[in-house]
Amino acid sequence: MTDNDCLFCKIVRGEIPSKTIYQDDAVMAFEDIHPAAPVHILIIPKVHITSAADLSLEHADLLGRIFAAASQIAKEKGIAEQGFRIVTNSGSFGGQVVPHLHFHLLGGRQLEALG
Ligand code: AMP
Ligand code: ZN
Repeated sequence: MTDNDCLFCKIVRGEIPSKTIYQDDAVMAFEDIHPAAPVHILIIPKVHITSAADLSLEHADLLGRIFAAASQIAKEKGIAEQGFRIVTNSGSFGGQVVPHLHFHLLGGRQLEALG
């Protein structure tokens, strides 16, 4: 897939509408179209990275900025105190559907234990 065809690259370019929560030059956050919790926001790098499997040390600054954005959004959405979850699915066994790196920020209810 090229960046041209990528759903989240299209959202970054404004070709597909989204309920944008936050953006800066490198990071964007928008509401998930099928929320799995009262707060369900996707936080993505603006640059196309397919999944967490493609990350390396060169992305350290970008990842720091993504997590700083997540923390800020969690506070703004009022879920920081009670708690929240940040998840990234990678590849088919990981359950990834959209092949552009994204972090689910989930909160506003008690989330299920993972194991
Ligand atoms: P994943 O299964 O980790 O790849 O997650 C993809 C997420 O993208 C799912 O939670 C979808 O509900 C969400 N999604 C798909 N299309 C859109 C869209 N156009 N706007 C916002 N969220 C979307
Ligand atoms: Zn993309």
